[in-house]
Amino acid sequence: MIQTPTPENTIDDTRSGYLWITLLALTLLLSGCDQGVHSPPSGPMGQAAQPLSGVADVSAERIVAADQEPGNWLSHGRTYDEQRFSPLNKIKRENVSRLGLAWESSVASVRGLEATPIIVDGVMYTTSTWSRVIALDAKTGEQLWQHDPKVQRSWGKKLCCDVVNRGVAVWQGKVYVGTLDGYLLALDASNGELIWRVDTLVDRDQYYSITGAPRVVKGKVIIGNGGAEFDVRGYISAYDSDSGELAWRFFTVPGNADGPFEHEELKMAATTWDADSNWKGAGGTAWDSMAYDPELDLLYVGTGNGSPWSQYVRSPSGGDNLFLASILALRPDNGEMIWHYQTTPGDAWDYTATQHMILAELQIDGQDRKVLMQAPKNGFFYVLDRATGKLISAEKYVFTNWASHIDQSSGRPVTTGLADYSQQDRYVFPSPAGGHNWQSMSYSRNTGLVYIPSRDVGWVFNEAGDKWFTFGADNVAELSVDQNLPDPAGYLKAWDPIAQRLVWQMELPNIWNGGALSTAGGLVFHGTAMGHFYAMNDQTGEVLLDLKIGTGMIAAPVSYSVDGEQYVAIMAGWGGPAFNTLAGNEALLQYSNSGRVLSFKLDGSKVRLPSPIAQRGPFPEPPDIQASPETIEQGRLAYVMNCGGCHGMYGSTPMLPDLRRLTPDKHLLFRQIVLDGLLEPLGMSSFAGDLSEAEVDAIQAYIVELSREAVAAQTK
Ligand code: CA
Repeated sequence: MIQTPTPENTIDDTRSGYLWITLLALTLLLSGCDQGVHSPPSGPMGQAAQPLSGVADVSAERIVAADQEPGNWLSHGRTYDEQRFSPLNKIKRENVSRLGLAWESSVASVRGLEATPIIVDGVMYTTSTWSRVIALDAKTGEQLWQHDPKVQRSWGKKLCCDVVNRGVAVWQGKVYVGTLDGYLLALDASNGELIWRVDTLVDRDQYYSITGAPRVVKGKVIIGNGGAEFDVRGYISAYDSDSGELAWRFFTVPGNADGPFEHEELKMAATTWDADSNWKGAGGTAWDSMAYDPELDLLYVGTGNGSPWSQYVRSPSGGDNLFLASILALRPDNGEMIWHYQTTPGDAWDYTATQHMILAELQIDGQDRKVLMQAPKNGFFYVLDRATGKLISAEKYVFTNWASHIDQSSGRPVTTGLADYSQQDRYVFPSPAGGHNWQSMSYSRNTGLVYIPSRDVGWVFNEAGDKWFTFGADNVAELSVDQNLPDPAGYLKAWDPIAQRLVWQMELPNIWNGGALSTAGGLVFHGTAMGHFYAMNDQTGEVLLDLKIGTGMIAAPVSYSVDGEQYVAIMAGWGGPAFNTLAGNEALLQYSNSGRVLSFKLDGSKVRLPSPIAQRGPFPEPPDIQASPETIEQGRLAYVMNCGGCHGMYGSTPMLPDLRRLTPDKHLLFRQIVLDGLLEPLGMSSFAGDLSEAEVDAIQAYIVELSREAVAAQTK
């Protein structure tokens, strides 16, 4: 009898250094976990009695008229305008302190959970790690079905930022998910069975991945992908929702200077790149945000950073490098571009414009304006006219030193000297983590405020330019001289988009927290890295509820109702890119990262905290591996480029085994693990072809050095 492992024993297995003899058993356990559970919907929802065509029958009419059924959450941002405002108001300021747990449901994960659940007629559709799709009874949390696309664990090394997924789209009885390994799947919403699967990748050898949620517009499933840290060329694709047939594809950057150009827009874009450099690929991946205006019939897509980050390498003579770091307005029928707005011309700082876009009607200078609002990574909050793409206003929403302001007439940032790292290292704010990243904002129609999960943190960009990553830069202090820099901190900011000013903010010790939800109950909900779930007065920021969950949150909450009862739900499970530190993250330092969906209601029960992290004892002495300082430094660089993205820049994260505690048997098998894929069933990719034996040995020497430092630190 194979049992599905609980998150708890998964944690224990990965933490304590399992013995080799258990590897086969573990593989069996994990493959047991991989089996999709295809039980028919049942229980109080009565789904089983419904005809198949009635299940998850989401249409454009329903999404556009979503306010007539506020109990549902039909699309990623609830509505096509992606406001993430719930009109439900039974939970309100006066009673929110009575909020308790309605149910919780494990999603068998100890890594980052980023999904926004979709709720249709009492059924919740969400995703876990490795692109697994789960349907739950939204009233009880009972699992109705699960679909595991069985993503090859070797794909793990193709990701910058954890094995995450931000959710599904639901449309006319089908559930759509983009998988880490680049497939788009259509599942039967009634039982999770696969209806069709298409390969969205133009090249399976490149480091593409999908972590974003699809949207469905006019019967087309729209999906982009990620990989701009790895030289891929960005594009967005539209598929027929019934057949899976490709309808159109829009490349966000030209493949090379001379063509051929797949579509007209690329001819113009190519003139903004260095014609003489050997560029290819080049980034601009559309890995997260989209919004749709049915009246204007415009699909808005945010595009990502340049690849490599350094423009001095990528396009040495400069240029805007369209359409990097841009907002594109496309016709959903054919992908034709109507306008574009580039937030960061010639991006050299990983300043993606893939961040959440919100459409709203604002009264500005006495005029009703159809606007698009975005807080991209670059630190400025933009309000654009979404019919024309023209700038209305832009102001700094976090500490920003690379540009002084956005020029009103051209809409372009005016850079400071600190933006230029071609001649010397620069300490630049915001960092590649962004003033704001993918974590969803929320726009309250009641207050007119936008709630922005944001952060103050900087990054050293090296003058060498060909190094993308400069973790542990030792010249931060020197570079900070004469700058009045903020300490690293996370924030939830309430922002007035008309006046372009801060109204209130909640300061948080960790920089990497969850998204926001506002409701007609006068509330803002927000989960934090510290494992606290807050409800605040949407006008003042006063904390009205502080529920200790014990698990860090990076996802955004949603609200829905079943049988007249209002619920607020969120996925808990901290993770994402390993450049995020654990500073202030008491949840991860105390408790296992127990991945689950939590749903709350008035007068619910007390939240049960996850099991505390077991005492692990002192660091063991590492094996007697000797290496020269030069080899250790080579190992450090190879480690940062190949290993740090998952294992943390200094050998440890709470989500994966602490490499400083590698057991002697693992050290003996180090080459087999790294090059032969010995632990691939557990998600440790083979790096054959990426690393030589000498590089692997140098990495091992660096890890041994980290272990020695840990041993020395504890004996002080
Ligand atoms: Ca990036």
